[in-house]
Amino acid sequence: MTASRELVCATANPGKVAEIAGLLPDGWVLLSRPQSVGEIVEDAGTLVGNARLKAGAILAVTGKAAVADDTGLEVAALGGAPGVDTAIYAGEGCTDADNRRKLLGALSGVAERAARFVTVALVAWPDGRETIVEGVCNGRIATAERGDRGFGFDPLFIPDDGDGRTFAEMTAEEKNMVSHRGRAFRALAAALTESPTA
Ligand code: IMP
Repeated sequence: MTASRELVCATANPGKVAEIAGLLPDGWVLLSRPQSVGEIVEDAGTLVGNARLKAGAILAVTGKAAVADDTGLEVAALGGAPGVDTAIYAGEGCTDADNRRKLLGALSGVAERAARFVTVALVAWPDGRETIVEGVCNGRIATAERGDRGFGFDPLFIPDDGDGRTFAEMTAEEKNMVSHRGRAFRALAAALTESPTA
């Protein structure tokens, strides 16, 4: 049964790996992404599709169960954009600061600032099955950046389940309690505990 309690992580981002490892149930081991896996083009067009591409690529190389996640920011006033294109909102090769600047510009003078982060976490099992969970964090987009922690849109995102601070003004623990990724991986941990190989 030991093999079924290992998951290979599709992300190479050390911060995310530590966060995911910390949220897995007791007895589960998170193995790091092998160096031999090249860049995975995330062009499926949906969060689930992109997570499937990443987990599938790792499973193909390692033969072991693989876990991948994909996140999008959906802004109501922008019809749900940038969504699956969140990482490249301001264009291929853009920085997080470019993305935030573009979002502030798009919402300039806009009163309706509701938004949500959605994270899909997907495990691809060697027998072809998948476990798919989702985590959602509702909130709103600030009118100016606040805070210097975190990454991405953190200085602009104010979660509804908070006290008015942006994610970038919260500690990592405070953010994890309410964040999309925290919720998705707690849901995954629950699914793994309930059905360890499904
Ligand atoms: P990824 O799928 O986790 O790589 O996320 C895609 C993009 O969403 C990132 O490049 C960030 O711009 C944004 N993003 C994802 N998670 C967060 C978060 O927790 N805070 C702020 N921005 C995030």
